[in-house]
Amino acid sequence: MKVRIGKRPKGDLVDLIERISGEDPSLCYQCGNCTAGCPAAFAMDLPPHQVVRLLQIGQEDMLLSSRAMWVCVSCLQCYSRCPKGVDISKIMEALRQVTLRRGKDGIEVKGLPVDLLSQSPQQALVAGFRKLVS
Ligand code: SF4
Ligand code: SF4
Repeated sequence: MKVRIGKRPKGDLVDLIERISGEDPSLCYQCGNCTAGCPAAFAMDLPPHQVVRLLQIGQEDMLLSSRAMWVCVSCLQCYSRCPKGVDISKIMEALRQVTLRRGKDGIEVKGLPVDLLSQSPQQALVAGFRKLVS
């Protein structure tokens, strides 16, 4: 059973992320197992354990301006390694949802090279746009 440490003010980013994801960032004790196993951490500006840490201390601007949420591939490796049962893939998805709802996309479609668009499988493009564009 998850034990919550204190209540967040309703409507702040952490409260929103907790409600959308169903996860409790306060459970994390920063062991770093998630980042050690994450196949996409090398490409993230904030590794997964730091995303959780910034949530714990309410650093909204740093979180929402980070690329980590867009780079996460939802592979669940972090969840499988976490001794506290924190599912960071759900936290990343919640961060994407909040960002997209605020009108900020993960990519600018107009800026994509024509070669990429013409050579990529249609299904990959649709899946990518569903993740990255509001
Ligand atoms: S593995 Fe779990 S407890 Fe460890 S840093 Fe990552 S989220 Fe926190
Ligand atoms: S779900 Fe995302 S954060 Fe977790 S290991 Fe996979 S790519 Fe990394």
